[in-house]
Amino acid sequence: MRDAFSTWLRWGVNIQPDWTLKRKIFHTNVAALVALTSLVTYCVALLVWLPSRITTKIVIAELPFYFLLAMIPWFNQKGRDNLARWTLAFSAVASQLISVLLAFGSYVNVHFYFILFAIVPVAFFPIRQWRAIVFLLVLNVSLYLTFELIDLPPDPEVMAWRQSTLEILRASYAASTVLTMFIFIWMSEVVAQNSEAKLENISLTDYLTNLPNRRYFESVFAQEIAKSKRDNTPLALAMVDIDHFKAINDNYGHDTGDSVLQHIAQLLSQATRKSNVIARIGGEEFAVLLPNTSLSGAVDVAERMRQVTQEESFGLKDQQLTITVSIGVVAVNSDLPMTQAYKWADEALYRAKNTGRNRVVASDAALPPEVAS
Ligand code: GH3
Ligand code: MG
Ligand code: MG
Repeated sequence: MRDAFSTWLRWGVNIQPDWTLKRKIFHTNVAALVALTSLVTYCVALLVWLPSRITTKIVIAELPFYFLLAMIPWFNQKGRDNLARWTLAFSAVASQLISVLLAFGSYVNVHFYFILFAIVPVAFFPIRQWRAIVFLLVLNVSLYLTFELIDLPPDPEVMAWRQSTLEILRASYAASTVLTMFIFIWMSEVVAQNSEAKLENISLTDYLTNLPNRRYFESVFAQEIAKSKRDNTPLALAMVDIDHFKAINDNYGHDTGDSVLQHIAQLLSQATRKSNVIARIGGEEFAVLLPNTSLSGAVDVAERMRQVTQEESFGLKDQQLTITVSIGVVAVNSDLPMTQAYKWADEALYRAKNTGRNRVVASDAALPPEVAS
């Protein structure tokens, strides 16, 4: 049941690539559900609580709006999101007008709902449709003011209801207007928070390997340098580069190259500790940050990464292939800029490449002279 509801609310969301529109469509579906639920509750309450000729008349007159509101997610699913929004705006205004004109006049505050309808379209319409938003604002404020000022009398049958009944009706119209507004603002906030989290995740993750990307890596790197300086703890950096990767692309195709990259990304992250951060920072290059790790500790981790890659058998087009990586490792000097650590790690990596590949080379550049010698 819950799944069915959430599917219904998401109708039309996924067919839109635009994030703002996705949010607007979701809001429209939620509003349709809220409107439908309150309309049904309203009609059932009237029939059960105040059965009379006039309530039957209201319930019948509101019938078309059950169908219109229920159609809204379906319109969105068909890509007719603009029709969905206008159907919602029309149904909201018209169904309240029926209650006001047919039965209640301005006697029991039904017209408070027009204040709600003046405000919420901004949640359904994209800002570029500002004319629609302003139109609905002006229309609904005018309707509210009209009924507030003209003192439209209710149907005589309503006048005959007990005073306490009318007070309850009055209070519930005002309360439900405020409650609905609150629900909408809350919902917008939750939806915005979720999409911010999703977008942030996308902007910090490498699409191919699902590892963190360079942007994420560098923000963590900056934090770890500051932490290592503050706590006086060691920090190491390893740069990993796949050997002769171009040949894999050339011989087996780019798609195979991509799956090898994914496979190696997995192997490397399994070979590192939880506290280490591994990221894809370039085409076939990975960086590993090792907090609280000395140079020799980092060399051990790098050696493990090199070995697991070498020992893995890559099945490429009926062939079993061995792939290797070269790794440059450096102790990070927290008094120097991050770029210096990259530079020294790259130099060590370059030496690993030049001395036969499939090896780990430690840079002694960052170490004090007495340790380096
Ligand atoms: P070396 O051992 O010296 O590192 O040789 P190499 O061939 O690995 O290095 P080179 O820098 O010459 O080539 C890297 C190749 O990686 C070239 C590029 O086409 C490939 N590459 C970069 N990004 C991707 C990717 O996302 N997918 C695939 N399939 N290939 C990529
Ligand atoms: Mg490279
Ligand atoms: Mg390479």
